[in-house]
Amino acid sequence: MGDLLLERTLAIIKPDAVKRHLTGEILRQIENTGFTLRGLKMLHLTRVQAEHFYEVHKARPFFGSLCQYMSSGPVVVAMLEGERAIERWRELMGATDPAKAAAGTLRKQFGTDIEQNAVHGSDGPETAARELGFFFSGLELAG
Ligand code: UDP
Ligand code: MG
Repeated sequence: MGDLLLERTLAIIKPDAVKRHLTGEILRQIENTGFTLRGLKMLHLTRVQAEHFYEVHKARPFFGSLCQYMSSGPVVVAMLEGERAIERWRELMGATDPAKAAAGTLRKQFGTDIEQNAVHGSDGPETAARELGFFFSGLELAG
């Protein structure tokens, strides 16, 4: 048996999914997959906050539209904890483009298009640390 790798990662339920009342269903699938919810809140990002969160993408052609979308309504952010949580949350989300995502993944089930794809997940340990710190305070992260 391999060593246990207990990780934390950031999940976001994006504005399109919150608007369509999918928050509860997505959280249910997160919990059913075995993740522990260690933090959970709803907030409405400003355009400038969305630009900071996605600054790694600022040179990409989709950056302006992405930041407009991510500040178009409330999001739900969650800290997920579990064995290999970073990779396992990416697996449950599915590919960026819902049309290419595997059956059963959240983006396949609930994504509208390559931009409005229902959920976000950190893509590695450094990103997870940065993104958790963006949304959760030191006090919350220490829990
Ligand atoms: N995105 C987009 N067009 C693209 C690629 C990405 O609108 O061609 C959006 C989409 O919402 C995606 C986000 O930008 O989730 C971040 O892109 P990334 O490549 O990091 O994909 P992810 O890590 O979310 O799968
Ligand atoms: Mg990404």
